[in-house]
Amino acid sequence: MVPFSDDELEAFYREIEARTAYRELMENRRAERSARRAELPDCPTPDKLPFTSPAAAMDSIERIKARTFGTVSLRYYECACGRWHITSSAQLTHRPIAPVRRRKGKKKR
Ligand SMILES: [Zn+2]
Repeated sequence: MVPFSDDELEAFYREIEARTAYRELMENRRAERSARRAELPDCPTPDKLPFTSPAAAMDSIERIKARTFGTVSLRYYECACGRWHITSSAQLTHRPIAPVRRRKGKKKR
């Protein structure tokens, strides 16, 4: 027996459709699938080269260091996108979180 493809399965379930559980299941699966297609959340620094592991980032750092004779100070960090980026340690990788400002002057009396 040939297993259903996802589309066939969906069509099959749509035909039955009596149970909302099936619909929910398919919705979950669809969300899962599109999440997998997107793979990762948006990168806050899309200009930076993404590495899939710290080892890969480290490897690249070593190569840059060799090329620049160790004059550049680099490090890697885990990004919000789930990958690893290289940065020079002098630069901030994240914007500092803005301090919560208390509203002054509201309590006047
Ligand atoms: Zn990133």
